[in-house]
Amino acid sequence: MSEQRIVVVGAGLAGAHVVQGLRAEGFTGPVTMLGQEPELPYDRTKLSKEYLQGRMDRAAIRLHDEAWYVEHDVDLRLGVVAASIDRAARVLRLADGDAVAYDRLVLATGADSRRIRFPGADLPGVMTLRELRESDALKDLFAAGGHLAVVGAGWIGLEVAASARQAGMRVTVVAPNAQPLDNILGPRIGAYFADLHVRNGIDLRMGVGAQGVLERDGVAGGVITDHGDIAADAVLIAVGAVPRVSLAEHAGLAVDNGVLTDERMVTSDPAILAVGDIANAHNTLLGQRLRREHWDNALRQGALAARTILGLEGTYDWQPYFYTDQFDLGMEYVGNNLADDEPVVRGALESGEFIVFWQRDGIVTAAMNVNIWDVSDTLRGIVGQQVDRERLVDRNVALADLT
Ligand SMILES: Cc1cc2nc3c(=O)[nH]c(=O)nc-3n(C[C@H](O)[C@H](O)[C@H](O)COP(=O)(O)OP(=O)(O)OC[C@H]3O[C@@H](n4cnc5c(N)ncnc54)[C@H](O)[C@@H]3O)c2cc1C
Repeated sequence: MSEQRIVVVGAGLAGAHVVQGLRAEGFTGPVTMLGQEPELPYDRTKLSKEYLQGRMDRAAIRLHDEAWYVEHDVDLRLGVVAASIDRAARVLRLADGDAVAYDRLVLATGADSRRIRFPGADLPGVMTLRELRESDALKDLFAAGGHLAVVGAGWIGLEVAASARQAGMRVTVVAPNAQPLDNILGPRIGAYFADLHVRNGIDLRMGVGAQGVLERDGVAGGVITDHGDIAADAVLIAVGAVPRVSLAEHAGLAVDNGVLTDERMVTSDPAILAVGDIANAHNTLLGQRLRREHWDNALRQGALAARTILGLEGTYDWQPYFYTDQFDLGMEYVGNNLADDEPVVRGALESGEFIVFWQRDGIVTAAMNVNIWDVSDTLRGIVGQQVDRERLVDRNVALADLT
């Protein structure tokens, strides 16, 4: 099988880990990776944090330097758009008219920023954040200073708000829900994030619906909301992401909130795999399909797809994990709680160093460590277990003894 031709569409986190995995496992056959951005694969998570804040440069966020792809004999084609898949002929057609034959094709096309269709959404000065060039545009904005209005109080909206504030901008965040992130973390922990942002000088307006972008001299001049207008110098729309499934859809693959895959990342066509943000994959540990837009997911699913292609063991059998950095808060989360699972706090929220467990029927469904480090693996072992609430909160009981 070492001569099978592997083609990866999408030169992002997940795609790069497919390629890396194939070579790490000793695969010597031809590997092609196509990416529509003109950039070497990079870590997108830095775009709202270290890169945006000027603490890491372009080279530092790359997953590998150019020489790595040469040394590992990867045919990396950048600035190239995959347009369609001819499944019968096992050929990928490119927008420039070229075609690439494959034996196994991996789709790793990621997600797009969700667009809102309201008045003024297309005005110059309305920004989104998904790609390096967009982080560069935000950096330019930070250098010019002024007032940034952020629509959306999810992870990216909050991270950019924090970075903008730290760069000295005035920042207003508007979102319709009662607390930031309450749809994921529940209202109590959502309120903690609200307090963090307010304490750091963000004008946080929750329960406020954006209805359009104000125009000022032909460019974005603020946000129109159901609670009045907010004048600003630029507007960031950060209302989530949508998986880029059009290639898969047009090829007739099974798609439902992402490209459907089994526990080994194989789609409804055995010759095609899907990984990362686009994959709605069967998780054997949780016994359900999951589509996760997280760094860890992209890395692990990329490596898993490589093993599947090579006929090695491995399944999608781990708890989801993600992290965020906002102001002086650094946190990691592992698990898969529902927003109405009961949060159990170990330590004091006010101290800024604590662990939150979520429980449902006594089972720990997720855990989040805030400014407490090197506990993630232990927490991973606790998630899924039945643990008494009293023991979870008792700091005299070592974390390792909770498993
Ligand atoms: C600003 C930001 C901050 C984030 N912060 C965090 C964080 O703190 N923690 C966390 O866990 N996760 C975070 N994430 C999410 C994480 O970055 C993603 O889950 C991860 O990048 C997904 O990897 P992927 O390879 O599936 O997709 P991507 O990294 O999006 O890569 C997909 C690539 O495919 C290319 N592509 C798409 N269609 C085609 C085509 N037809 N032809 C050729 N190329 C194509 C795209 O241009 C893109 O380069 C963040 C995301 C963003 C945008």
